[in-house]
Amino acid sequence: MNKVEHIGIAVSDIKTASDIYEKLLNTGIYKTELVEQEGVETAFLKTGPNKIELLQATHADSPIAKFIAKKGEGIHHIAFEVDDIEAEMLRLKNEGFVLLSDKPKPGADNKLVCFVHPKSAGGVLVELCQEIKIA
Ligand code: ZN
Repeated sequence: MNKVEHIGIAVSDIKTASDIYEKLLNTGIYKTELVEQEGVETAFLKTGPNKIELLQATHADSPIAKFIAKKGEGIHHIAFEVDDIEAEMLRLKNEGFVLLSDKPKPGADNKLVCFVHPKSAGGVLVELCQEIKIA
């Protein structure tokens, strides 16, 4: 795995949270994206080399809605950048980690993603992400 690619934060209202994070980091949202398949609306900020992803549920069945109902707003996942997501998924599976999908899925910000179950990763939802290279 390479660097931490971003930190995902679950929020109930992305507009309110965007205002707060813009002030906090003193920088604007540079991208927003709806990931229909995952039931999330996202907004990204960058500070130095670090990226923050704000996530708001788009419907009640969204994993973000369930997370907030259970734990409230806050840090939702840590994403690590990988060069070869399929190889990394296989490696983690062989190490006994529980993956939330069998195949990488399209995520926000031009990435292929896969999540590692928090139960197998010390209570932290871990996201693997690999940039989709445009040929
Ligand atoms: Zn993420």
